[in-house]
Amino acid sequence: MQLSGDHVLMTVKVDHELCCGCGQCEEIRPGVFQIDGTVARVIVDVAPPETEAACRHALEHCPTGAISIEE
Ligand code: SF4
Repeated sequence: MQLSGDHVLMTVKVDHELCCGCGQCEEIRPGVFQIDGTVARVIVDVAPPETEAACRHALEHCPTGAISIEE
């Protein structure tokens, strides 16, 4: 967990063993998730606060459960 002021920063990860490359996460939140070949990658070190709701949405809708969030 990282702290910046009183805001808990969110780290998003994709497990490449589980990801099927469907691209749904990138559709939900481009700029955080990006398809790279056959898997999605997280292209930010920390999710910008304005993307957090979309990142949670992507986690809930990932068909393989490949997305995880640490706060
Ligand atoms: S939604 Fe899940 S399975 Fe689909 S590309 Fe993103 S991380 Fe991979």
